[in-house]
Amino acid sequence: MSWSLINNARKVLIQERGTIKKARGGKITVAIAYPNLYYIGMSNLGFHTIYYHLNSLPDVLCERVFLPDKDECLIYSSTNTALFTLESQKPLYQFDIIAFSISFENDYINILKILDLARIPLERRERNNGYPLIIAGGVASSLNPEPVSDFIDIFVIGEGEEVVPELFVSYKKGVENGYKKDEILEGMADIVGVYVPGYYTVDYKTDGTIMDFEPKGRFPKKIKKRWVKGIDKFKTHSVILTPNTEFSNMFLIEISRGCKWSCRFCAAGFIYRPYRKRGLGNLGETAINGLKDKDKIGLVGAAVSDYHMLPELCELILARGGKVSLASLRADSLDDRVVRCLKASGHKTISLAPEVGSERLREVIGKKITEEDVLRAAETIIRSDILNLKLYFLIGLPAETLEDIEEIIHLVKKIKHRILETSRGKKRLGRVTLSINSFIPKPATPFQWHPFDDIKSLNNKLKVIRNALKKEGNITVISDLPKWGYVQSLLSRGDRRVGRIILAAYKFGGDWKRAFRETDINPDFYVYRQRYFEEIFPWDFIDHGIRKEHLFAEYQKALR
Ligand code: SF4
Repeated sequence: MSWSLINNARKVLIQERGTIKKARGGKITVAIAYPNLYYIGMSNLGFHTIYYHLNSLPDVLCERVFLPDKDECLIYSSTNTALFTLESQKPLYQFDIIAFSISFENDYINILKILDLARIPLERRERNNGYPLIIAGGVASSLNPEPVSDFIDIFVIGEGEEVVPELFVSYKKGVENGYKKDEILEGMADIVGVYVPGYYTVDYKTDGTIMDFEPKGRFPKKIKKRWVKGIDKFKTHSVILTPNTEFSNMFLIEISRGCKWSCRFCAAGFIYRPYRKRGLGNLGETAINGLKDKDKIGLVGAAVSDYHMLPELCELILARGGKVSLASLRADSLDDRVVRCLKASGHKTISLAPEVGSERLREVIGKKITEEDVLRAAETIIRSDILNLKLYFLIGLPAETLEDIEEIIHLVKKIKHRILETSRGKKRLGRVTLSINSFIPKPATPFQWHPFDDIKSLNNKLKVIRNALKKEGNITVISDLPKWGYVQSLLSRGDRRVGRIILAAYKFGGDWKRAFRETDINPDFYVYRQRYFEEIFPWDFIDHGIRKEHLFAEYQKALR
C-alpha cells in the first residue's frame, strides 16, 4: 500500500463538495469506474447521475475509481499497490461489483488498465466466483457492446435509472440465496435491458460476417434498450463539485434527453429516442438550488436550443443573479433572448455546427439547416457582441466530393465576411475556430452500412482546408487525427473478435499498429468495408426501437 497514493486521494477528496460517504455494514459494495482520468470522468454528467442513483439505494454503497495518471500508475506498480477507490481507499477486488461507465470507444483499452491495476483477471472467462462482478453501461456500450464483451459480465443497454435498481434486487436475491456467479447471471435473464454476453454464441460465415447470434437458455434473442418515460422523476445534475474538472466553474443540469432531428450521421438522434424534455418548474428549482453552490448553470442536452422554454429558463437564472452556459446551439433556432443571456453571462464564444459546407451534402446527412440559417446565426451572435465563433465540421461523409470540401472553405469565408460587415465600427474583431472531425459511421444510424473514409483521403482533405485558410486572418483550424478515427470506427462497429485486438493493444502499451500486426484479425474488414443490407451486424440483437429497414431506406434516400 502506498501512502503517497492515499495522500493523493485524500487531497482530491478534500477539494470536493457533495461526496457521498456511507457505512459499509451489510451493503452491496459497488465501485463505479470511469475509464479515463478524474478530470474527464468528473466532467461527465452521466457519471455523477449513476453515482447519485446507486447511493440512493439503501442497501448499496457506491464509491468511485478513475484511471490513474501516468505517474500514479508507476507508483501503483513500484509499490505493488492494488487500485483502490477514492472514497475509502479500499482495493477494487474487495468490492462486490465494479461498474464501468463508458462514453467513448477509445476508452475501451483503459478498462483493461483499470482491471489490471486492480489485480482482476481481464477476461471474464478467467474470473471465478471470488472476483467482483463486472458491469458496464453508457452510450458507447449501449450502441455496440460486442468489442468489449470478453471482458464484461453484464451490460446495461440504454438509460440506467430504472433498470439498475432491478438489477440490484436480482443480485441481492442471488447473494442471499447463496448463488454462484453463474446462477446470479442466469437470474438476470428476465430483466429488460440487461445483456449477459457469456450466454450468447456467435457463428461466422466464411466471408467473416455473422451467420447467427444465439442466446442460451432463457436469455432473450433481442435485448430491448431501456429508456425512462418521465425524466422529471429523476434529477440529473452535478452531484459532486470539484475544482479539478473542465466544468469546475458551473453546476450542470440536463434539460432534455434525445433529439427530435434524427440527422443521419448522429447516434444521439436515434438511440435516445423519444425526445423528452423536463418541466420548466422542475428545472428552475434545480437551477436555483445549483446557484447556492455555483454562480453559473450549464444546461446540457443533445440539442439544447430545441428546449421550448429556453429563453424563459435562461432569464430566470439571470434574474436570480446567476449566469448561464449552453454547449452548442442549432443555427436555425438561435433566439435573441438566449444570446443576450449568454452575453450577460460573460460568454466570449458560441458554437454552431454547420457540419458541412454545401447545401447538397447537408441534405445528404439530413441536417435540416440552411446556409442562410448559419450566416444569420453568426450575425445575431456578433451583433450581440459575442466576438468568437466555433464551427463544427465533419469530413469523410457519404457522397462527399472534393467540391464539398471546397464549400467548407467558401462557407467559412462567407461567415467571416458577414462578421466583418456586422462588426463594422467595433474596435475588436473576434476569432472563428473550425473544429474538424472525421465522420465515424455509428451503429443504429442510417450510415451504419457505410465505410470509414480512407485515412490518406481524410488527411488530404484536412490539408486542403488548412492551406486555403492559412492566410485568412482570425481563423484557426483544429482537427482530430484521422488515425484515431480509424481506431474509433473499428471499436464502434467491431464484433467480439475485436476484443482480441483491444487486448493486444493493451499488452503492447497502446500500440495499435503492432496489435493489428500481431493478431490474425484484419481491422480493415470492420473499418473500410461497405456492408450489405442483409448482413447481420454485431449490434443487431439490440432493439433500439428503430427498424433496420427504416434506417436502410434513409441510407438509400441519402445516396440518391
Ligand atoms: S446532430 Fe444535433 S440536431 Fe442532429 S440529431 Fe444529432 S444532436 Fe440532434
